Amino acid sequence: MTAPFDLSDDTVVVVIGTGAGGGVLANELAQKGVSVVALEAGGRYLPEDYINDEWESFGQLAWTDPRTTSGDWRVARDFSGLPAWIVKAVGGTTTHWAGASLRFQDHEWKARTTYGDVQGANLLDWPIDPREMDDYYTRAEEKLGVTRTNDRAGLPGNTNFKVFEKGAKALGYEEVHTGRMAINSADYDERPACQQTGFCFQGCKWGAKWSAAYTDIPRGEATGNLEVRERCHVLRIEHDEEGKASSVVYVDAGGTQQEQKARVVCVAGNSIESPRLLLNSASQMFPDGLANSSGQVGRNYMRHVTGSVYATFDKPVRMWRGTTMAGIIQDEARHDPERGFVGGYELETLALGLPFMAAFLDPGGWGREFTSALDHYENMAGMWIVGEDMPQETNRITLNHAVTDQHGLPVADVHFDDHPNDIAMRNHAYKQGMAVYDAVGATRTFPTPPYPSTHNLGTNRMSANPRDGVVNSHGQSHDIANLFVSDGSQFTTGASENPTLTIVALAIRQAEFIAAELGRQNL
Ligand SMILES: Cc1cc2nc3c(=O)[nH]c(=O)nc-3n(C[C@H](O)[C@H](O)[C@H](O)COP(=O)(O)OP(=O)(O)OC[C@H]3O[C@@H](n4cnc5c(N)ncnc54)[C@H](O)[C@@H]3O)c2cc1C
Ligand code: SF4
Repeated sequence: MTAPFDLSDDTVVVVIGTGAGGGVLANELAQKGVSVVALEAGGRYLPEDYINDEWESFGQLAWTDPRTTSGDWRVARDFSGLPAWIVKAVGGTTTHWAGASLRFQDHEWKARTTYGDVQGANLLDWPIDPREMDDYYTRAEEKLGVTRTNDRAGLPGNTNFKVFEKGAKALGYEEVHTGRMAINSADYDERPACQQTGFCFQGCKWGAKWSAAYTDIPRGEATGNLEVRERCHVLRIEHDEEGKASSVVYVDAGGTQQEQKARVVCVAGNSIESPRLLLNSASQMFPDGLANSSGQVGRNYMRHVTGSVYATFDKPVRMWRGTTMAGIIQDEARHDPERGFVGGYELETLALGLPFMAAFLDPGGWGREFTSALDHYENMAGMWIVGEDMPQETNRITLNHAVTDQHGLPVADVHFDDHPNDIAMRNHAYKQGMAVYDAVGATRTFPTPPYPSTHNLGTNRMSANPRDGVVNSHGQSHDIANLFVSDGSQFTTGASENPTLTIVALAIRQAEFIAAELGRQNL
């Protein structure tokens, strides 16, 4: 049987969401001859459609359906309707992403064992041996064409990087380079080398940056085994009398409700929509939502310890030129409790355009401090902090029944409070980041609080013991054998690295498992 598939075809694997997890999983399954229907809430945009303008691009690609926030984080105060920056489009957030692609450090797979009992943190070891991931990481790096892996050259440094590198070296940092990026430094895999034009967050108009939108998804479709239905928003997952997932109910591009039968269902809607979907799929048999016998669906939401440091200089930097995020200091990523916190963080170059800078630098203010900073935008350099945050049971996605979306379903409320470890880490990172710029003559430095979350993790986490989480080491739900979680919500803990390479490696691994289980008639 080849695509398109019939709604009544109950032999297909249905993948919900086509981002880093879902897009890669759908292609990997299709390559193995498995029939896949991928349902994607957003439309299809390709490099020729991308817009080199921050707000217009955001309007084109971002998920702007209503969500609510609560908790003590700054995002709840300043961006209460926008807890996260997530894409709603074929390819998911891999259109907006910057491409930083790092492997976890070995100890980060075993955070509970390494960090011990951290009060208030719901730490757990991943049920995966780090050595088992080596090969999957290599395959993910090949797929994404990650620079500085397998003899691929690094990207050239832009001026933002040169300022950052000089300051870092002055402080004695050693692991400083232009990063491991899923951006071609030379032509690779039918995509051109980076042209250094900037606007990486707005979708790479050259296709030099990897995105599932124009790699995995069309390749999966070309096999005839994958049908991607865009502008199809999944409302709930249905199950049969035995409690097995049996179909998926969605609203199609024309606004009509449809039901696609399924042999296996894989949820990959990102760490906010995936738990929301499982909770919205509650039934008489599963009154607390699907896969939720542990009560862990939606809990342990993580977003990385983030923050930025900007600095102005007496000469132009023009940080917006060239790649948005190709520059990293890795020395602080180690686990070293002597610094006053467990886990570690990365410092990565970051450039925001003037429209986003105006919104994020200090959304509360419009005084001399703020306007004089913007006056020096041309002379500004910037970096982003990304560190491991502590999973907490109370940081969670719940259904907000008081607010409904365009389909009448309760929206996700995203609750987040910083853990004391997160605050200690962020303060350390601010200090180090400012020192980097001070070492090369910054005239002013601006420690800047976190923006809406770009790294959304946890909420359907992996656990060895069904009591502690939602899915097993293959992303298969503990409760329902033919229901999988395939996105960043599987993360047991967040590590200090940008997450997408690990999401992709896990999707490759999961595809192998599902195909083998289908072959053995276990699903
Ligand atoms: C500006 C920016 C920069 C980033 N830079 C980096 C980086 O440098 N390195 C890195 O590792 N990560 C980066 N990230 C994060 C990275 O993009 C995400 O971690 C990754 O894409 C998450 O993958 P996912 O599969 O969990 O979800 P996504 O890629 O977000 O995909 C989820 C998809 O599911 C769809 N969906 C949701 N609900 C439904 C539903 N009910 N029905 C149908 N479809 C649905 C959504 O529309 C979306 O397309 C960045 C993110 C942003 C926003
Ligand atoms: S700088 Fe490179 S990766 Fe970024 S958008 Fe331009 S070509 Fe693409």
